[in-house]
Amino acid sequence: MSVSASDVRLDDRIAIVGAGQAGARAAEALRSAGHIGEINLIGEEPHPPYERPQLSKEILLDRSAALASIKDREGWSGLGVSLHTGASVAECEFANRRLLLANGASVAFDRLVIATGVVARSAPALENSAIPVRTLRTIEDALFLREAFTPGARIVLIGGGVIGLETAAAAVKSGCSATVVEAAATLLSRALPAEVAAFLQRQHEAEGVAFRFGVVGERVEDGALVLSDGSRLPADCIVVGVGSEPRVALGAQIGLDCAEGFRVDAYGRTDAPGVFAIGDVAAQWSEQRGRWGRVETWANAQNQAIAVARCMAGQDAPYRDAPWFWTDQYDVNVQVAGDLAGADLVLRGDIASGRFAVLGVQDGVLSGAVTVNNRKDMAVLRKLATRRVNRADLENPSFDLRKALV
Ligand SMILES: Cc1cc2nc3c(=O)[nH]c(=O)nc-3n(C[C@H](O)[C@H](O)[C@H](O)COP(=O)(O)OP(=O)(O)OC[C@H]3O[C@@H](n4cnc5c(N)ncnc54)[C@H](O)[C@@H]3O)c2cc1C
Repeated sequence: MSVSASDVRLDDRIAIVGAGQAGARAAEALRSAGHIGEINLIGEEPHPPYERPQLSKEILLDRSAALASIKDREGWSGLGVSLHTGASVAECEFANRRLLLANGASVAFDRLVIATGVVARSAPALENSAIPVRTLRTIEDALFLREAFTPGARIVLIGGGVIGLETAAAAVKSGCSATVVEAAATLLSRALPAEVAAFLQRQHEAEGVAFRFGVVGERVEDGALVLSDGSRLPADCIVVGVGSEPRVALGAQIGLDCAEGFRVDAYGRTDAPGVFAIGDVAAQWSEQRGRWGRVETWANAQNQAIAVARCMAGQDAPYRDAPWFWTDQYDVNVQVAGDLAGADLVLRGDIASGRFAVLGVQDGVLSGAVTVNNRKDMAVLRKLATRRVNRADLENPSFDLRKALV
């Protein structure tokens, strides 16, 4: 199913709800693809759109780092995009093709792009406690934590996922102590192969991070987080990194069932006519996993948004990119491409050297790859994905992967 010419008008009114990375990239790409009609980019945050990876990296690590925006206000008006900041969309009158904002204004549209992202899950049991408890999703969160990370402060991270670990690294680099509380028995069991997760854990331990596995934080009492085994962790600040929930409040008003996010096809179309969804809030079908899922990565927020904008402008540019993300912790760069679910895992290189890869092979085809401090291999592995590969070649670290491309 491709783009039908009857779906496309280059002069119609497009409203984008959510002025984060995906919304911003879609607005830019609509203009580059020739859309001449009105574009309203509406976001509840007070700032022009920015990318979030800097929050857990540059902003937390460097006291002098300032927020980098995708474009400043002049840049958006120069592009002919009406940027509404501090403007939350409260309601969608879908039959009237009208958005109602919390500030009383309204925005009319012919086509609607939902780019509302996700909200970080909180820990309700810890709310209103005497110790500050914070998630990390916005620049305000990052600046709050940067202030809290004073030398000697005791930081407890709830959740040993990517954001929790990047934050733990920033805390110890700022001179704090850091303890990660993880309900599972190991770190990152769904995101990374066990070898890579164990490697990362050792790096953190070498930097002084402590881990508590198989327990959860139950309450705050007398300046400490009380864990489910009864032990206590004295803390000056608690950071909660336990996943996210899609921001789908508009779904019911549009008549869309969107428990796990807005389901979209490769053109970003939802089941509602003229309504698209992009970025973290969009649920995409995974052939490999046989299910719908959100792809909460920088690369998806950028590339899906661009592809969908091009399709909205009449180009046949379906989005079929394999997932890819990276994380930086200390001087360790980990990159993950494709999907290792259900694949046989092949180790390439020596873990002890700190530079290695774990590759997923399914029925003779490369399905995914994780590299540790090996950007060069990753550049080739991304091109190799879904190609037939020779397992013995992959296992041999001196085999030049580029030869497998021919
Ligand atoms: C701390 C942090 C570090 C990260 N690091 C990495 C990394 O290293 N590598 C990587 O691949 N990915 C990383 N990510 C993930 C990546 O940043 C996200 O996938 C990306 O930001 C998703 O973009 P988005 O536009 O879909 O959502 P967002 O950027 O969250 O934008 C959604 C916007 O919609 C707004 N909004 C929601 N509802 C409404 C409404 N009703 N009205 C108006 N506005 C609304 C929100 O306020 C928000 O500004 C990181 C994320 C975080 C939080």
